Amino acid sequence: MSFTIPARDVRGRVVRLGPVLDTVLGAHAYPPAITHLLAEALTVTALIGSLMKDGDGQLTMQAQTESGIIDLLVCDYRNGELRGYVRHDADRLAALGANPSLYALFGQGYLAITFDLASTGQRYQGIVPLEGDSLAEACQAYFFQSEQVPTLIRVAARNDGAGCVAGGLLVQHLPEGEEGRERLHVRLDHPEWDHVAALAGSIRHDELVDPDLSLEALVWRLFHDEAEVRFDLGGPLQRGCRCSVAHYESVIAKFPEADRTDMRDERGLIVVDCAFCSRLFEISA
Ligand SMILES: [Zn+2]
Repeated sequence: MSFTIPARDVRGRVVRLGPVLDTVLGAHAYPPAITHLLAEALTVTALIGSLMKDGDGQLTMQAQTESGIIDLLVCDYRNGELRGYVRHDADRLAALGANPSLYALFGQGYLAITFDLASTGQRYQGIVPLEGDSLAEACQAYFFQSEQVPTLIRVAARNDGAGCVAGGLLVQHLPEGEEGRERLHVRLDHPEWDHVAALAGSIRHDELVDPDLSLEALVWRLFHDEAEVRFDLGGPLQRGCRCSVAHYESVIAKFPEADRTDMRDERGLIVVDCAFCSRLFEISA
């Protein structure tokens, strides 16, 4: 769901992920620390992806390291559809305690945020160091460094017997309006932004993951003293994977024939599994 506070030049997004998380996470058998991280990453991806005005555009968030316990985390969003996966070293992860820090999981890494605009074919990518206590913090740094937009992002995830729930809030200050003007004179200490950031920052983790608290009520709790808050209910989020036989046929066709021969099993088929959804495909190329 999106909202704006016109008098403060602020726009926001708020999301809560329930069954869609179970669907994405259910395709993998990740240990709890990875499940929690991916739930947070999918929530951040949904928040940032829903900023795109280009309905068929794609937002990809990728965290990558050379020698971290996690060497790759990828999530993407397109038109309300989310997917993601994590590549990690299970043995090294098991040696960590519960609730490992972002640094313990990734080491020295970087975060790439990529906007692919379907309407124009343009691609924008920003890369920032993977720093801070959470992916949300690293994404805040992305908006400040790459887009010069003061941004606050809060994310929480809870995984208990009843399934996984995650929630997130993103608030941005756009004093020059939404359209792409040069923001050379950005002021992080703008009084309007200070005020809104203080209110938004007061959100609690349990509020973000409380399925009985509607998103609208959540925003009203934070900004009830504002003269006007405008809401725009978005569509539901769902798991969406773009893997298909045709996709893998085109990937495999790019390999030399000798490599394809090595990949074939005794039936002459090449079996590939989708990293995002773990589905298996048998390609007869
Ligand atoms: Zn897939």
